[in-house]
This record gives sequence, C-alpha cells and structure tokens, in this order.
Amino acid sequence: MPWTRGRTSFPGADPTKQTMKRHNFPWALAALLSACAASCSVPGAGAGRGSLALRADTLEHNGWDRDCDLIHVSLDLVLDFEGRRVHGTVTNWIRALREDTQQVRLHAVGLEVREVLDAAGHVLAFRLEDPWLTIELAEPLAVGEEESLRIRYVARPERGMHFREASKHAQGFAPQIWTQGQREQNRHWLPTWDYPSDRATVDAKLRVGFEMTALSNGELLGVDVHDLGERTFRWRTAQSIPTYLIAVAAGRWERYADEWQGLPLEYYVAPGTGEERARRAFGETPAMMAFFTELLDEPYPYAKYAQVAVTDFRSAGMENASLTIVHDRLIGDAEEIADLDGDPRLLVAHELAHQWFGNHVTCFGWSHLWLNEAWASYLEILYEGHVAGEGRAALWLERYREWYQIRPDADVPVVLDWRTQSAGDRANHLYTKGPWILHMIRARLGDEAFWRATRAYLDRHAGGLVTTGDFVRTVFDETGVNLEGFVEQWVEGGGFPRLEVSFEAAAGDVLELDVRQVQETSELVPLFEIPLELDLYYVDGTVARHRVRLDGEQETLRLPLHDAELANVVIDPAGVLLCAIDLDKPLAMWMHQSTLQSAPAMQWRALPRLRELAEREDRARVAILRLATEGPEELLRERASTLADFDDPRAVDVLMRLATSDPAPRVRRAAVHTLIQHSARSQFEPGGDEYEALLTRVGIEPSPAVRSEIQELLELEP
Ligand SMILES: [Zn+2]
Repeated sequence: MPWTRGRTSFPGADPTKQTMKRHNFPWALAALLSACAASCSVPGAGAGRGSLALRADTLEHNGWDRDCDLIHVSLDLVLDFEGRRVHGTVTNWIRALREDTQQVRLHAVGLEVREVLDAAGHVLAFRLEDPWLTIELAEPLAVGEEESLRIRYVARPERGMHFREASKHAQGFAPQIWTQGQREQNRHWLPTWDYPSDRATVDAKLRVGFEMTALSNGELLGVDVHDLGERTFRWRTAQSIPTYLIAVAAGRWERYADEWQGLPLEYYVAPGTGEERARRAFGETPAMMAFFTELLDEPYPYAKYAQVAVTDFRSAGMENASLTIVHDRLIGDAEEIADLDGDPRLLVAHELAHQWFGNHVTCFGWSHLWLNEAWASYLEILYEGHVAGEGRAALWLERYREWYQIRPDADVPVVLDWRTQSAGDRANHLYTKGPWILHMIRARLGDEAFWRATRAYLDRHAGGLVTTGDFVRTVFDETGVNLEGFVEQWVEGGGFPRLEVSFEAAAGDVLELDVRQVQETSELVPLFEIPLELDLYYVDGTVARHRVRLDGEQETLRLPLHDAELANVVIDPAGVLLCAIDLDKPLAMWMHQSTLQSAPAMQWRALPRLRELAEREDRARVAILRLATEGPEELLRERASTLADFDDPRAVDVLMRLATSDPAPRVRRAAVHTLIQHSARSQFEPGGDEYEALLTRVGIEPSPAVRSEIQELLELEP
C-alpha cells in the first residue's frame, strides 16, 4: 500500500498529527483524550453490537464480477519520455469461467485503443466506457477455453504513470518515469483486469530512451540495444501477482547491491546520490530479509528484491512485487534521516513485509486491505524491536495506539469500511489499528500458536487471494481458537473501549474497582467484550496479576488484597489491549508506574498524567525530569523532554543537559524544542545569540525542516 501514515516530518502528513505537533503532541493528546472521555454521554442500554447495521460494500469497492480468469499479462511498450506518453501493445491471456462467454471486460481509463486482436488474428469489436474496455469475442468461449486479447493503444496518463525531469541529488536533466498502481491507477496506462480479485504472471518489454534503465517486476531476461541511446528491457515474473502490483521505474539510476543467500538485493537511486546515502536508506535490507524469512518460515517469493527511490512519489512507499518504490525523502544525510521519525528503517521493513503479506498472499478486495497493512505495520514494529529491544517495539505500539485513537475515522470498521471507501482512500487507520488487532490476537493465542497459525496461513494461501474469513479459519484449524467473535468486534465493528476506572479498599481485604465503558456506542461502535489484566503492586515488592472479562457498560470488580499495603494498581500492564484508560489514582501510584523500567509502555502511559499533576505537585515534576534523564528508551526520554515544559529552573538544567549530551538525536531535538518553546521569554531572545549558542552547544546543525519548524515556533512567540 502507498504508505500514507503521517510521519510528522513528512509534508502531507496526517493533518491530525500536524495539529498535534503545533500544539505539542503528547500534551494535546492527553487533553484530547480526556476531553473526549468527559464529553461522552453514558451510552444507551442495548446499543451494542446487536444493532450494528453494517451493509455490504458496493461492488465497486468490494470487487466486480469477472468475465474470465486472467492468466498472463504481456506488456510490449514504448515509454516516450518527451511525449509524456506510453504506446504499444498489452496482451491479456484469459480463461473462460462461464459457458458461452461472448464478451470480456477489462479496465482502461483514458486510453486511445487503436485495435484489439485475438490469438487467431481476428480484429475484435470493442467499446470504451470508463472504467471499462469491453471486448466482443469472435467466437463464444466454453468454460476453461483460453484466448488472448492483444490491445494496441496509446496513453497520456494523468494518473498511474508519472514523468519527472529532475531528482534530488542529480545535477541538471535527470529523467524518471515511475508508476503507482494501488489503488486502481494502473488502468490509466495499462489495459487489464485492474482489481485485486485476480492474479496473473507478467512479462514486460519496456523500451526507453535518454540512456534510462527500465526496472520492472521479477527477473531481467535481457536488454536489447537500439539506435539513439534507446534500449528495451525484458522482465518476467514466474509467480502470479495481482495487477495493482505491476510497476515500472525508469531512470538513469545509480545501482548498489547486496546479496542475501543468493538473492540479489538492489538499491536504485538518482545519479549523484552516492553509495553512502543509498545504503543509509536501504542497507538494513539483508538483516530484515533474515529476520522475516526465519520468523515466517516462508522463503521470499521472487527472483530479486529491488528498491528504487524516485522524485515526487505520491506516498512514502509502495510494495510492488519485487520492486518497491519509495519517495526520495528517504535518501539523505544523517541529519536529514534523523528527522524521519523511525524511517527509513520502519518504511523499508514495512514494504519488505508486504512481499509476503499483500503480494504473496493478497487481499481479495480493498475491503480486506487490512490483511495487507496490519501485517506490514506489525512486522515493521517487530523488526524495530528485534534490532532495538522489545521495549522499543512496545513504545512504537503505544504511539500507533495514540495515533489511531485520535483519528476522526477511528469508529469506522477496518473491514466493510464502506463509509470511508466511498469517500476515497481514507482508511488509514488500517496502519495503526491493524497492528493492534494482530497484537491482541497474539496475546490471546500465545506466541507459539500465533506464529504457527501465521505460518500456516501464509503456507495455505501462498500465491492466492484472502479474505478475513480465511485468516480466521486458518487460526481455528491450527489452534482451535475461533476468532469470529473477536473479528466481529475489532474488525467488522469500529472504535475501541474507553474505560473509566476508579477503586477503593472495601471491607474484608477486598479492592473494589468500578469499571465503565464510556465510548459512545452506535451502529458502528459496540460495547466491547474484552479480557482485562490488572497488576496489584504491594509495598513489600510483591505483584499479583488478576485477569477478568468485561462485557458490560458498568461493572464492579472485587479483587482480594494481600496483607501488605497497596503500592499501585496498573491496568493492562502488558500493553495488550487497544483501549483508552482513564484511571483515577493518587500521584504516588503514577510515580511508582513511572519507575517500572521493565514496562516502558506503562512509563509512557504515566507521563501525560504526571504532566497534569505537575502544575501543582513538585514530585510529579521530579518524576518527569527523572524519566527525561534516566528513561531507558529514547522515545520515553523524548516524550518526557517534551512534557518538561513547566516553569522550573531544574527543568531548564535538565533540558540543557539533554540537549547537549543525550545520545539520541530525537531527544536532543525535543529538549531544544521545549527550551525554546517554553523558556524563550526568560532564557532566550527568540532567534538571537542565545538561541544560536544553544544550537552550537547542542552540536547539531538542524536540517532545513527542523530549522523552519523552530523558526515557526519562534514566530509564534508574543
Ligand atoms: Zn503498506
């Protein structure tokens, strides 16, 4: 999928996050979450899943009937850079699925079709009516009978195929032609069945000029050299792929390479980029390949894996089969890359993970797209955890949880999302809720069963098309666990539980907890039935874990208490439930939570609450400053630095120390931001010498993006 999640440093990022950024992200988030919780009225009785009135997606969004089975697509095209057009022939090999098949519909938008011929050379009648190219066959086909339809055409595509004259690190003219198929854009330059409900093998002969190299899916069979610097590149896939994954990227590339167990790994970048920048973006690919193939116990499916960085790519990346295309924002010097908030690693891992989830096993229709995106997003986080430790993965999951929970479309189901589908490609909560759906399933099944079921799912459906039901069925067959109820809530239903929890010690050594689900239920958002874990910490150092099930709007839990005094109550201590928790507990307990070094996600969740309390409680300020300096994870120290925006000389000292000496660039930058944003009046002349001196002390030369952001902050000062 084009990776349209908002990374804060990317132009065109999620508007929600842009807003958050301007208002100091975690702080605004806490306010937003509590405001939302407060404004939610008590839900009406019985407004649960039973009344969820989802209707099926329209055919347009959930897949059309097809007239035949697409077997093979053969491209023989001239990519005319000067003319901004593509011309030649595309041949679709088909097999009839119904008796007396007399016509075949393919997708084609804005093409000038000159001629359609069948295998015997008959000229066939056709008509174009967006998005269809309907072809009348010379003779009706019987079931199973095959035919080829050779379409000669010209296209001047406004979508799907793009022409660029310059690139980031190249001097002067640097031609590029690149495509973006998902969703339904290949039909603007390629007449074929352009919907993920079918798969075909593909070969491509691509003629290009200007000394360009044309990349495409699969294996390079050869290169034919013509006059005037023109060449034809011949590619072929041995595996069937859905046609939205057909891609072309032509340019005067610099090529760098690695190898992993005999598999060629290729990195293509604009001329002038240099090896160092190319490897800074793509150099972890062999390690990712090793991690994914072992975890999934399924070989990488294609003959090569190429990644190419192009100019003006519409999203961050696209996982075309064996040819991932990414935006050249990923290519840069160390300081620029430090701005990318987890990329290039997360994005490169995401698109590679798609080669299994999305490409090898493909969603049958866009309604089931979460089966592509949830896996890619979850595996990118798991790879990050593999490299940087489980604590890092847990914190990335926390960030995805918060990004999901403030999305305006959070209440829309991830499958059957007819509301967002009809509004266009807006279902971006697939990227943030999706990994959490898998994370919750993993918690329910346990690691061994989860990965065994995952491998079986890949194995069973390799080279095929899947719906949500296929995944549910594989899990059931392999582990005996029936996820249908889970899917009804979390996949076909929308939203998430918002829990308001308070507690008090009752008579007889019992802790009484009042738990309320306060999300506004609707036809889309149910009252959830959920497992909930709670840890009771005692001052003698013991911890007791309790497991309960919630399914009501309000429930009273009665948990036995030990003899020792209670030190803390922690809800969802393992961070395995996609929920928002508004827990009413004393400052001492939040401080205790902030010291749980083995559970960084709980420290993360304590921080916004400590910030609320910091206005009147000195100890809360100390706890935040301690996390800023001693937090084991850079994401924690970054968040604590952002929240240390209170008026306190100790905060200035700590932030100055972090700004100059924290090993993580993101922490240094957050500390500088907080200093400038909140201490400018007393400590710094906006834009003046002190500010420059600070940057010098920090030892960072901020990239243009950071500098303009800082400038923006300074201009906001009164
Ligand atoms: Zn994706």
